[in-house]
Parts: sequence; structure tokens; C-alpha cells
Amino acid sequence: MADIYTIENLRLSLANMTERRFFGATPQLEILKGLDFSIPRGAVVGIVGGSGSGKSTLGRALVRLLEPSGGAIRFDGVDITHLSEAELRPLRRRFQMIFQDPMSSLNPRHRVGTIIAEPLRLHGFDAIPARVARALDNVGLPQAFASRYPHELSGGQRQRVGIARAIALEPDFILADEIVSGLDVSSQAQVLNLLERLVADLGLTLAFISHDLSVIRRLCSRVIVLHHGRIVENRETGALFAAPEAAYTRELLDAIPLPDPAQAWA
Ligand code: ADP
Ligand code: MG
Repeated sequence: MADIYTIENLRLSLANMTERRFFGATPQLEILKGLDFSIPRGAVVGIVGGSGSGKSTLGRALVRLLEPSGGAIRFDGVDITHLSEAELRPLRRRFQMIFQDPMSSLNPRHRVGTIIAEPLRLHGFDAIPARVARALDNVGLPQAFASRYPHELSGGQRQRVGIARAIALEPDFILADEIVSGLDVSSQAQVLNLLERLVADLGLTLAFISHDLSVIRRLCSRVIVLHHGRIVENRETGALFAAPEAAYTRELLDAIPLPDPAQAWA
């Protein structure tokens, strides 16, 4: 099977808490309004769009932290759209998510070694210490970091721990939601280099959510552009940057600051 994900007419509504009524059902707000796309195995797909366009909602649906209200999500040929938590359990190891803010996604009272070991234990892996050691090595952190706490690390190092925790499970797919947005430019570059290397070495498929098109351009082979819960463009990265088709994509591209200040004078 060439595509790891096949998405058909994906719809997702959430309760609209700002218009909650005293009587009757809470009104629903449609966040994803019928998305069709696929993710080829081994691809690095960028998901871009302005704030509130539905990027995180789509990401959470792909790893089934949210249940769609319509359409279908097939993962490696399995329809996961409405699977129960018990039915999802054997699949969960295979699609992992890395979050924007590692400070809130890493348990502050646990050492790094425990943080990486915990999901391995839950999924019934053996030889856990060796797997933790290999995961640290894979993300370029010294073994001694296993005994440190998250607050003792820099932002970039914490994000590496989040990546180590995900790849230790040997997933097929990783969803990364704005994971370099909180980092300074040099830590950003290091984490992006790391991701590129891991995708190549481990044969991962990666979906990378970002509002930053320069990061997407550097990392991704394809780009999906979301606008108000709809896909307005889904193309190969080079083609999209050379000649954006949707008016909204052109707006996003125009908003990228020029990389070289000298060019601003041209
Ligand atoms: P993005 O990640 O692109 O910024 P989100 O997927 O987080 O966008 O949000 C898309 C839309 O869904 C926004 O309008 C947001 O206000 C709304 N939304 C997000 N989470 C919830 C929720 N739990 N309940 C209701 N509306 C939500
Ligand atoms: Mg988001």
C-alpha cells in the first residue's frame, strides 16, 4: 500500500461553548468541512494555514485524539474513523504525536529516562533500558540526560526528549504540531536537521503542522494549505512556492518576511 493515510470527506464538529444554551443540545461548530487527501508512505507533508484554520484539529483527528463527525480516515488500510479506545489500542503505537509545548507534555516530576520508558512499558516492549538509550542516542542527547528532569533542559533539548519518546515506539507515522515554534532560530534549525535525518534513517512518515512557510519549504515534500477548515491547495512543495494557485496561498507567501535584509531594498 503506497498511502499510509487516506482521508475522505473528513468532517469534524466541536461543541460551540460560546453559544451554549440553557436548554437543548449545545450547538456544534463545524471545524473541518470535508477534507480529501492522502499521505504517501515515507513522505514529509506540511500542513499550513493561519491561526484557527483547523490545523491542530486535523492533526488530532489523524491520530484519533478526536473523533470525526463525518467522512473516513483510513490508516494503513484500516478504517479508524470511529474505532473505540479499546479497538485503537493496538494501533496507537503506530501513529504518534509530538506537541508544541514540551514543558506541558513532559511530566515535570519524572526523569527523562522514565518519560521515554513509560510509553514503552504501556505498549509491552521488552529490553526497555536499551531502547531508552538508543532513543536518546538517535536524537543526539547524551546518556546522562536520562537522569535529568525536564526543567533542567533547554527548550531545544526538551523538544528532543519529546521526539525520543515518540520514535522509541518505532511508529510508522509522526504528527508534529508547531514543534519548533517556541524555539530560537538556531535550536529550530537543529531540530529540523534532526527530523530530516530521522525520517531518512527510520523510514518514518511525517506530517508537520506549522504557520511558518519558510520552515515548511525547507522540510516538506508536499504542502496542504488549510483555510477556514477547507483544503485550498495540496501540491508538491517546489510547485507551490514557484506558482501558488489559491489566492489564500499567495497571501500566505506574501506574508513571509524576506530572509535577506538586503533584498528588502531591491
Ligand atoms: P489552528 O491549529 O489552525 O490554529 P485549531 O484546529 O486549533 O486551529 O482550531 C480551529 C477552530 O476550531 C478555531 O476556530 C478554534 O477556535 C476552534 N476550536 C478549537 N478547539 C475547540 C474546542 N475544543 N471547542 C470548540 N472550538 C474549538
Ligand atoms: Mg494549532
